Amino acid sequence: MYSSELDNFLIIVNKNKIHYPFEMSKHRRLNFTLAHEIAHIYLKHYELPDKYKTEDDLYIEELEADEFAGRILMPESKISTCNFTSLENVAEHFNVSEWAVLKRLSNLKCSHLRFSKTFLVCENCENAEINPKDSYCKICGMFLKNGTRGVTTMKYDDGFKISENTMKVSICPKCGNSVIGESDEYCPICGQYLFNECTNDCGGCHTTAPGNARYCPKCGNVTTFYNSNLLPDWEPTREALLNKMEFEENLSSTSNTAEDIKDWDTMGFTLFLEGYTLLSTLLENSTAKQCGETLVVYVKDTSIKDRILNCKNVGILTSMAKSQFKIAVNDIKITALQDFYPVAPEPVPIDDGDIPF
Ligand SMILES: [Zn+2]
Ligand SMILES: [Zn+2]
Ligand SMILES: [Zn+2]
Ligand SMILES: [Zn+2]
Repeated sequence: MYSSELDNFLIIVNKNKIHYPFEMSKHRRLNFTLAHEIAHIYLKHYELPDKYKTEDDLYIEELEADEFAGRILMPESKISTCNFTSLENVAEHFNVSEWAVLKRLSNLKCSHLRFSKTFLVCENCENAEINPKDSYCKICGMFLKNGTRGVTTMKYDDGFKISENTMKVSICPKCGNSVIGESDEYCPICGQYLFNECTNDCGGCHTTAPGNARYCPKCGNVTTFYNSNLLPDWEPTREALLNKMEFEENLSSTSNTAEDIKDWDTMGFTLFLEGYTLLSTLLENSTAKQCGETLVVYVKDTSIKDRILNCKNVGILTSMAKSQFKIAVNDIKITALQDFYPVAPEPVPIDDGDIPF
């Protein structure tokens, strides 16, 4: 109700019916009820008194309030990527009742998610890239017997690309050198070991790990890349990835498009052919995403970002990308994953001697 005295809205709750903190599904229903009532206020449903509305009008207002509450409490991007180990776990995660989860799924027309195959998710770091044979989480090193029924998932896509044939990187993770011979174990330029391996030599593990693995999935020891500080700790990375998601969501909030631009690597070649050699070199290893009307280009680190921004021709990139990938963008943002870290990780010193500029 509206109080003219306080010039504020009051939502009155019955103290005898509230059991806080909510332990049972039916008690968590209050969160949805509150969000629903806030929706009526926010959507200005009170402006016209009920007596002037038809039954249909009132029914539509209720649907609107339900939808509003659902979007606040269970954003589509979050609930659609959930691991439905059980309805109860998911409801508990969003702090709503099981009924609210079911309703939200049905409104989103994805009730099937509830019965889709569940997968293994590390309960500690939310990593969902888990091989059933793994004993330890490759991202946080937790012994997986301690819990693989995480509800939400996180994609740690900050690793280095490893060739399936050679099991090693084809671009040096430290200096960016791409001239690597088939038999090379170390980078010919900077001496960096090119395999991401378990460092447990004495135990004779020698497991080769994926390019984003901080820990050996078999024995839980640190990997060579993590040991050489090429991969940052998982906790700040998780925070950075969440910040990055928020940044993309804000950019695309009006149009709801945040899509990876496939074959972005061909852009470098086009730039090269057009004579923009420096820009083409700087964009090596970059990825790009269309977020609403903005083209977001992710580069390895802040120093590369600054050098791109200093390029006179950076403006040309939007129009070239527009015609090459047939996308409708008006703006470009050059971004480094580093920018999203709570405290920027120590940059890996880059030996510029060999990169032609
Ligand atoms: Zn209502
Ligand atoms: Zn983990
Ligand atoms: Zn190197
Ligand atoms: Zn190992």
